[in-house]
Amino acid sequence: MSKAIYFMGSKILIRKNTHEFLLPYDDVKSTFSFVTCTEHREKDIYVARSKQPISDEVLIEAGFQAKELKSILSCLNENIQAFLLRHFHRLNWDEQSRFCGTCGNSLLLKEGKIEKRCDTCNIDIFPRFSPAVMVLVYKDDMVLLARSPHFLPGIYGAIAGFVEVGETAEEAAHREVREELGIEITDLQYFGTQTWPFPDSFMVAFSAKYLSGKLSIDLDELEDAQWFHRDKLPDLPSSASISKRLIENFKNKV
Ligand SMILES: [Zn+2]
Repeated sequence: MSKAIYFMGSKILIRKNTHEFLLPYDDVKSTFSFVTCTEHREKDIYVARSKQPISDEVLIEAGFQAKELKSILSCLNENIQAFLLRHFHRLNWDEQSRFCGTCGNSLLLKEGKIEKRCDTCNIDIFPRFSPAVMVLVYKDDMVLLARSPHFLPGIYGAIAGFVEVGETAEEAAHREVREELGIEITDLQYFGTQTWPFPDSFMVAFSAKYLSGKLSIDLDELEDAQWFHRDKLPDLPSSASISKRLIENFKNKV
């Protein structure tokens, strides 16, 4: 029997009081027959997002509830996290890439591919990623972590920002740290990458050693930044994000 994963904005539908998000397709189809959806299928899993809001009363009546996707990720294993993030990204792209940016005509989805085409301009359109960098700055056993205003209360993470046109990821890492913290870094070491669909970044993560300068926080970008001992870290971002893995890697370094 086919299964369904159903999103509402940035929320995912789950069975009430559970983390069960893989739902029987027929149940979902009949319960939400009154809304139109953006949808696609992967094998026998139907992935959809409603185009209209659905009230909490209607959801609860049908035995469901909607939770922020971000908030349930840490309860799921890595493969499932990756599956949900991939499909969420694809839905975002599908909804935001309906028309050609050059001629304004409707784009056509290529069969069997995550790729669209404008036949008028003769161009192919691929899912959008915005390259970004993340840097964990350390000095001996201390690590410099920061809070963005959009973080959940109490959470601190590594510094992050988007790569500018013409920049390398390495240049962006040095610039972001200089702009947001007022310090210089050295020994930039590659850690890993992650596609993160909130909204659409392709994150390249590094660690780097503190070199010089006095901490001076850019309060337009950050709420706070502090040095923490690796044995006494604050609350960290979701385990689904590369930020958590980057910080834990430093914490566990021998
Ligand atoms: Zn076009």
